[in-house]
Amino acid sequence: MRTIRAVDEAAYNYLNEIPPRFWTLSHNGGFRHGLMTTNNSESFNNTLKGVRFLPVSAIVKVTLEKFALQFADRRTKGLMMRQAGLQWPRKILDEMLERDTYKFRAKVKRHDGVEGVYAIAIEGVVTPSGRPKFETINMHAGYCSCGQWAVDGLPCVHAHAASHYVGRVPDGMVPEKYSLENYIKCYEGTIMPLFSDEYWLLIPYTVLPPQGVPQRRGRCPSRRIPNEMDLQGRRCGICRSANHDVRKCIHVSSDGRE
Ligand SMILES: [Zn+2]
Repeated sequence: MRTIRAVDEAAYNYLNEIPPRFWTLSHNGGFRHGLMTTNNSESFNNTLKGVRFLPVSAIVKVTLEKFALQFADRRTKGLMMRQAGLQWPRKILDEMLERDTYKFRAKVKRHDGVEGVYAIAIEGVVTPSGRPKFETINMHAGYCSCGQWAVDGLPCVHAHAASHYVGRVPDGMVPEKYSLENYIKCYEGTIMPLFSDEYWLLIPYTVLPPQGVPQRRGRCPSRRIPNEMDLQGRRCGICRSANHDVRKCIHVSSDGRE
């Protein structure tokens, strides 16, 4: 917050009004698992890009077909992973294996073996003054000061190192929600094909055809709030003059470009 305040007092005041649990990973109680954005829905939105201007019924049909295929793919993948004897989906397994490699480069100091409190530094990770960066971990509480454990719910590199130190495998620390069985459950429902329209229910009213509003040609005007670049209009990219464009600029820019 101090850093934000130094850059922009108004931004600091704005954020101060919003309870931190709504916009920080460190204060949300550990339920967001790394997701702070709408990237997931944006990604699916992107797959619908080409159909956005089609009639609603076509958009519904494409959405249904895409979901049906995605569910079918992931269901098959889940069953194949079960056949291969995996405990977690491949992505979780790879992440766990990657974090596990750090245990051989960890320096562990035991502070309370009963409560599971350790200070752990990973070789090569140092403080700004060049000293080994020790993180405090409480294995029983599921907490590590590095924050990673709280962010995605998977044991961090320090938790792997602590488990190795006491001669255990960290598998038991992976939450149930990441299990392969849960992954399979997510996609177990089959999205059935639509029956053709001869099977549709008869509706007790007349459907009017579209009124034939002509489609607008070209790109739709943006509805976003104009930014500095929109307001500046077309200016030379080098000297910012409004009298000529960049190809005709005779000025030399500060970085030496002509
Ligand atoms: Zn950690």
